[in-house]
Amino acid sequence: MAAQAFQEAHYAPKELEYAYQALSPYISEETLRFHHDKHYVGYVNKLNELVVGTPYEGKSFEEMILEADGAVYNNAAQAWNHEFYFEQFSAAPQHEPQGDLLDAISRSFGSYDAMKTRVAAEAASLFGSGWVWLAADTRGGLSVVATPNAGNPLREGLTPLFCVDVWEHAYYLDYQNRRADAVSAFWEILDWAKVGERLVK
Ligand code: MN
Repeated sequence: MAAQAFQEAHYAPKELEYAYQALSPYISEETLRFHHDKHYVGYVNKLNELVVGTPYEGKSFEEMILEADGAVYNNAAQAWNHEFYFEQFSAAPQHEPQGDLLDAISRSFGSYDAMKTRVAAEAASLFGSGWVWLAADTRGGLSVVATPNAGNPLREGLTPLFCVDVWEHAYYLDYQNRRADAVSAFWEILDWAKVGERLVK
């Protein structure tokens, strides 16, 4: 029944590219089931309701991020952000950046560890729900950007490279109020090979 509903919808949720238990113990199977199947799929389903009869019908999530405001923006951005988030993880990740990506990180932050410290600081100081991103500008400079709620650096003309979901729904089952521990665990499953592909694009 769910499959039939997806076929009729304008936008179909993407399946995870790995098993629900693949990121354990850093992200548990229970968290992934709620986060993907309930939260992310919920944003896509809501967007399908919202766009009917609007100029956004048939547009991509990215076009809606750049053009829409209000509920359409919020649900399109959350759909895009979550697809980007889930795609960047692997059960067998490349654990550190290499090549051009490492060079860009070193140029912009001084070192890989300094970049990680900056991500941790932005995640800790972001009040409420939101996202922390590594993003590239058009000249190849990298920055760590915190965006509240359904924010996305595409709105600022930046290219997102990875994102940390700091909404409580992303970590509360595993880490309760310990957001910093969830950010530390993020580095264990982030696949720098995938981040590097995003820089090339
Ligand atoms: Mn989330």
